Amino acid sequence: MMQKLLKFVLMCCSIVAIGTLASLFFVKKQAYAFDLNVLEKKENLVPILIIGSGCAGYSAALYGARGNVKTVVVVGSQPGGQLSTTTKVENMPGLIDQLGPDIVHNVQKQCEHFGAEILYDSVKSITVSDRIFEVVTEGGLTIHALTIIIATGALPVKLGVSGEEQWWGQGVTTCAICDAPFHKGKDVVVIGGGDSAIEEALQLAAYAKTVTIVVRKDAMRAAPSMQDRLKSVDTINVLYNSEIKAIHGIDDSGVTSVEIYNNKTNSVATKSVSGVFLAIGHKPNSGLVKGLVKVDNEGYIVTHGKTQETTFPGIFAAGDVEDKQYRQAGVAAGSGIRAGLDALNYLQTVGFTSSVAKNLESHYLNLKSPKKIAKAALVDIGSTQAFDTLIQEKPVVVVDIYTTFCPSCKYLLPTLESVAQQLGDTVTFVKINADEVPELAQRYKISSVPSLFLFKKGELLDQTVGALPEDELLAFIQQAL
Ligand code: NDP
Repeated sequence: MMQKLLKFVLMCCSIVAIGTLASLFFVKKQAYAFDLNVLEKKENLVPILIIGSGCAGYSAALYGARGNVKTVVVVGSQPGGQLSTTTKVENMPGLIDQLGPDIVHNVQKQCEHFGAEILYDSVKSITVSDRIFEVVTEGGLTIHALTIIIATGALPVKLGVSGEEQWWGQGVTTCAICDAPFHKGKDVVVIGGGDSAIEEALQLAAYAKTVTIVVRKDAMRAAPSMQDRLKSVDTINVLYNSEIKAIHGIDDSGVTSVEIYNNKTNSVATKSVSGVFLAIGHKPNSGLVKGLVKVDNEGYIVTHGKTQETTFPGIFAAGDVEDKQYRQAGVAAGSGIRAGLDALNYLQTVGFTSSVAKNLESHYLNLKSPKKIAKAALVDIGSTQAFDTLIQEKPVVVVDIYTTFCPSCKYLLPTLESVAQQLGDTVTFVKINADEVPELAQRYKISSVPSLFLFKKGELLDQTVGALPEDELLAFIQQAL
């Protein structure tokens, strides 16, 4: 009897305590308001700053911009996110047989139509004072944001086997849609048994002689409808119970072979390949806000109930960076919408009314400043002959080798254009579509894009793979000046 009474008293105390805490939090949330004097001293203000440009980021931007609040999307190093590297998308409600890059491009256009602005840059750091976020970009911009929506998605997981780091970008990659053209008529392997592995294999099959999917279990995890798509392609073969143990290569050509361990027969076989495409899942890209918001033991940002609120007021999260369960484009779009609405609500709660917004307009980030829009369009070179003439004639030439669907190539282009504008006539910038001039890709043994080449007086001075931020790109070119 006593025990029951004690339990009852404890229960009542807990209810009162929880209620008091909740009301304190609520009161605190209601009571907080931005200090206008502080805000008026800041420049480059952005009421809703979205970091990441996949389905979640652009959907959040659509709602932010339609809410009539200045909304800026920082694109990040993979414009369009994971959807931009897929082909046919079968499971986005209402969209039949559409390509991933087209879907994300349409959402981008849709949010731009309502006034959202796009910044082709990546975020380096986020700090906070007086609830105003100071966001520094790789391009050297300092933005003061009133809310932040983290929609940074997920990063591909690596295998961790010998040779993987050494041959990264020289045959080992995670982007078939970017690098498939470099494996025309060759043998390649795809690692993984999910939907992504099948996507990669199908993209590669259009170019490669054979594609072998290496699956560690005796079955694939991919959706049956995806597995069915393999049946019609006889150059794709699936190896079950198989794991990659090592990747080998040689200096001039990159990857040459892989060692495949059969975990059923305990045997190891060597297979000659030119490419190793990893499709073994993703991990959340939450490093930017670690320490600021709560993340779980796998790094996923923790959001509150049915909202996209994180544990830090004013920071919201959407998409694969906070969703470990569904990881679908449609779900990411939905969470982006919620994050956009949550950010608008938060701004109202902290006193960011339309009259406050009007007062602060002159302090807003202006992406239409001359430095950001003045660009020198890069000329496309369409033949080896034109290329050879150019590098002989011009003292310093920067060559950007790209492929049409490569997201990092799209990201690099505005940086190149901006640097070209800064350097004027001293350096000639050109781009070459590797798919259209394959002889050049072969000559320079390119197996990953974007690839940048620096020529001085016709001599190759240096080369690099991947999208560089502006300061690194300038340092790369400085070698020739
Ligand atoms: P998944 O997590 O679904 O699959 C990862 C695969 O990699 C699994 O087969 C897993 O094996 C395997 N794997 C993991 N670690 C290793 C390792 N160390 N060595 C070998 N194999 C490993 O990731 P996906 O990227 O394929 O898909 C993510 C989400 O995106 C899913 O929800 C998917 O449905 C969706 N998606 C949808 C697409 C579409 O509809 N068009 C296209 C692409 C993705 P195991 O099964 O043994 O754990």
